[in-house]
Formats: sequence, C-alpha cells, structure tokens
Amino acid sequence: MTTEAVLIQQHLIDPEICIRCNTCESVCPVGAITHDSRNYVVDAEKCNLCMACVPPCPTGSIDNWRSMPKVKAYSIEEQLTWDDLPAPLSEADLQANGVNSEAIAQAPEASGGSEAKASAAVSASGEAVFNSSAYGATLPPWSAAHAYTNLYGPKKPTQATVVGNFKVNEAGTTNETHHIVIDFGSMPFPVLEGQSVAIVPPGVDALGKPHHARQYSIASPRNGERAGYNNLSLTVKRVTEDHDGKPVQGVCSNYLCDVKVGDTLQVIGPFGSSFLMPNHPKSNIVMICTGTGSAPMRGMTEWRRRLRQTGKFEGGKLMLFFGARTQEELPYFGPLLKLPKDFIDINFTFSRTPGQPKRYVQDAMRERAADLVPLLKDPHSFFYVCGLKSMEEGVVLALHDVATQAGLNWEQLGQSLKQEGRLHLETY
Ligand SMILES: Cc1cc2nc3c(=O)[nH]c(=O)nc-3n(C[C@H](O)[C@H](O)[C@H](O)COP(=O)(O)OP(=O)(O)OC[C@H]3O[C@@H](n4cnc5c(N)ncnc54)[C@H](O)[C@@H]3O)c2cc1C
Ligand code: SF4
Ligand code: SF4
Repeated sequence: MTTEAVLIQQHLIDPEICIRCNTCESVCPVGAITHDSRNYVVDAEKCNLCMACVPPCPTGSIDNWRSMPKVKAYSIEEQLTWDDLPAPLSEADLQANGVNSEAIAQAPEASGGSEAKASAAVSASGEAVFNSSAYGATLPPWSAAHAYTNLYGPKKPTQATVVGNFKVNEAGTTNETHHIVIDFGSMPFPVLEGQSVAIVPPGVDALGKPHHARQYSIASPRNGERAGYNNLSLTVKRVTEDHDGKPVQGVCSNYLCDVKVGDTLQVIGPFGSSFLMPNHPKSNIVMICTGTGSAPMRGMTEWRRRLRQTGKFEGGKLMLFFGARTQEELPYFGPLLKLPKDFIDINFTFSRTPGQPKRYVQDAMRERAADLVPLLKDPHSFFYVCGLKSMEEGVVLALHDVATQAGLNWEQLGQSLKQEGRLHLETY
C-alpha cells in the first residue's frame, strides 16, 4: 500500500454548533484539541480516537468524523478558518487519492457510529503527572433525575424575558457578579440543578459573524428560581480583564450584567447530563467552588432546602467549601450566612484579605480531612467541583492527599468516584 492509500478517521468539530466551552480541550488526555478566538479544532496528528472528549461535549459538535486519506487530512490552520464542516469526501474522491475500495468499505464511517470508532480507540499512555480530569465522572449519580438536553440549538434559540438583575457581591469589587433571573413564559425549558444554558449575545464579532453563545451554570433549583414558575437564575461575573490580567470587555458577561427587566434573551440548551445531584435519602453532597462556580451549588443547596421544608425528605450531609479573593467579592455571602448550621457545613476561604495569609479551598479541605475521609469512603457521598480551571488540580490533589493520608488507596477510590458518578468537575 502506498502512503497515499492510508485512510484515517479524522476527528472534527462542527463550528456551527460548538459553543466554545473548552470542555473537550480540558479533557483530551493527549492535548489534541486547541482553539483560537474563532474555532475549536482537533489535531489529526495527535488525536488517537480515545473518545474521552465525546460524552462531555454539551452540544455534540465534537462527534464528527471524516474518512480522509492521511496526506489530505485537514490541518489545524485550515480548520481554524471554517464557518461550517466540509462535506465528506465521496468514494470517487477517496479512490482518486489512491485509497482502495476495500479500505473504504472497512472505514468506521462506512460501518457506522461511535461504537466503531471506539473500537479503534488507542488507550492513552500512562502519565506520571497528576491528571485531575482523569477522575471526573461522565455519568450522573445513580439517583439523579432525568435531564433534558439540547432542546434548543444555536440555529434555533428560544427566548426568555429578564425578570430580575441585581448584584450579589459588594459594590466596587473587581469581580462584580450579578444574579440574573430569566423567565421562559409558556416555552418548555425543563432543567435540573447542575445543568447550564448558553446565551447568544446580540451583534457580531470582529469578523462580522454573529457572536457565538456563552455557557452559564443554572443557579436555581429544578422548580424555578421562584418555586412553581418557569424561570431560572444565572450567576454572571462581569469580565473586565482576561486570565492574564489584561483589560478586556467580555462580550456576553457585560451584556448580561447590563440587561434590564423586560429585555429578551436568546437562550440555547439546556446542557449537561452528568453534573447532577443525587436524589436518594441520606445522600451526602460535598460542594467545592470558587466565584461563579457557586451557581450550581446554589441550585443544589436550594433544592435540598425546599425538600427539607416539606419534612418528607431525609437529606444527608451538605458540605460547602467556597473560595474568593475577599469576602466582599464572594457572591451570595449574606444569604449563605443565614442557612442553618445543622443544614449545611460552610467553609469560606479568602486568598487576598489584606493582612491575612492566603487561604484556598484546598487548604480548608485539608483542615477538614477528618470529616472528608468518612464521606470519601461512603458510596452515598457525591463531590462537585466548579469554578475557574486553575482550581481543579489543587482540589482533586487535596482529595487525593486526604484519602492517602487516611490509608485509602487513591487509585482505587479515584476510579470508583469516576465510575460511580461521585466526582464531578466543571471548570472553565
Ligand atoms: C461549563 C461552563 C459554565 C460556565 N458557567 C459560568 C457561570 O455560571 N458564570 C459566569 O460568569 N461564567 C460562566 N462560564 C464562563 C462564560 O461562559 C464566559 O466564558 C464568560 O462569561 C466570559 O464571556 P465573555 O463573552 O464575557 O468574554 P469573552 O468576550 O468571551 O472573552 C474576553 C476575554 O476574557 C477572557 N475570559 C473569559 N472568561 C473569563 C473569566 N471567567 N475570567 C477572566 N477572563 C475570562 C477570555 O479568555 C478572553 O480573553 C462558564 C463556562 C463554562 C464552559
Ligand atoms: S478522541 Fe481522544 S485524543 Fe482525540 S481529541 Fe478526543 S479526547 Fe483527544
Ligand atoms: S461545545 Fe463541544 S466541541 Fe465545542 S468547545 Fe465545548 S466540548 Fe468542545
């Protein structure tokens, strides 16, 4: 067989549907996914078809494959210019490139579906470095409720009306954060705590293309921000500087922080079918978050609080580790203090309080090791981590250290946390 005749399954991302959420890039074990300000793309040289990125993708845009002669594989540079996916090559095109008909007939694309691609998977080589994402579950807890996903896509968003927008941290802080309530009226938009939506900001980007949608975690419980209403809430930080501290004007976060009651938003989703809470009695929930990562934790806590009020549900332990730079910047600080101590065990950490040593959520977790160990051992305990990407590794490493110091086998425990849907990571 000549070099030209080698046929590969090229893994591609559909730029029309992708909401640029970064999930795939963060889970790919071999660094095959990259992005620029326009597109997320897969490097055919690096992708080993392991499929790790497919289940977590909220939109399904990652599940695209093309039979390509290896020498004709689409380059990263080419993919970064796409507005939509190219059509699959025809059999005649493939043959014209020296691929024989036997190879074409055997191609997974011809025999169909993800199963075929998964069977061609190559396992990632063992890594010496600690890889936190290797322990994140892609399945929900066994007692999670059924989540509806992708009811509205980027090509057909639904509309919601803004019914509230107010600040949830102190004025004058750099990390100004808003609580925004939106109502779907009579349009179906069923959600669960831990799911997210995406908002399509109005206007066009520097290339004159419509802005892509940005994803936001739902901060309210399943029966509405106001119980019994078809509404939900979001916790949005106004982005005024990028991750390197350079001044920017984040497109969607600024739009959302400035919306007025009565404005109409374009919404897609809901997204997410694994970062969901357990629903069985006595199940414990450990929530670890920073900043707006508190949004899903607020939804879960509020749902448990409403259940507790009915007197008909026996919840387990709720434990919250919540970090911010200062108390003034921490969203929902006041309301959290009002929750009864026998309902939720709250641990705040602040990393930039003047005159105080820096404290991060993982420091508080280590201090509370004696309480975390029984929870790690208990199959009815579920762990949720949400916030900026930079926190993830430190938090999972803290769980690792707490477990190991208590004589638990982390590799076994970490694998069961993943397989049993007990450790959920959502960082961005
Ligand atoms: C699964 C998921 C859930 C999310 N949930 C929330 C949520 O509940 N609340 C929330 O506020 N955001 C959330 N985000 C982030 C959100 O989707 C947007 O990325 C964020 O609001 C910035 O969008 P923008 O349009 O304002 O900024 P852009 O115009 O897209 O970006 C402007 C610049 O700011 C940088 N930047 C982007 N986000 C941040 C950030 N958070 N901090 C510092 N710099 C940043 C970008 O790299 C870019 O350089 C979530 C993201 C994901 C993937
Ligand atoms: S299939 Fe595996 S190697 Fe390829 S991009 Fe997805 S996670 Fe990375
Ligand atoms: S929508 Fe899917 S393909 Fe796009 S960045 Fe998110 S995970 Fe990746």
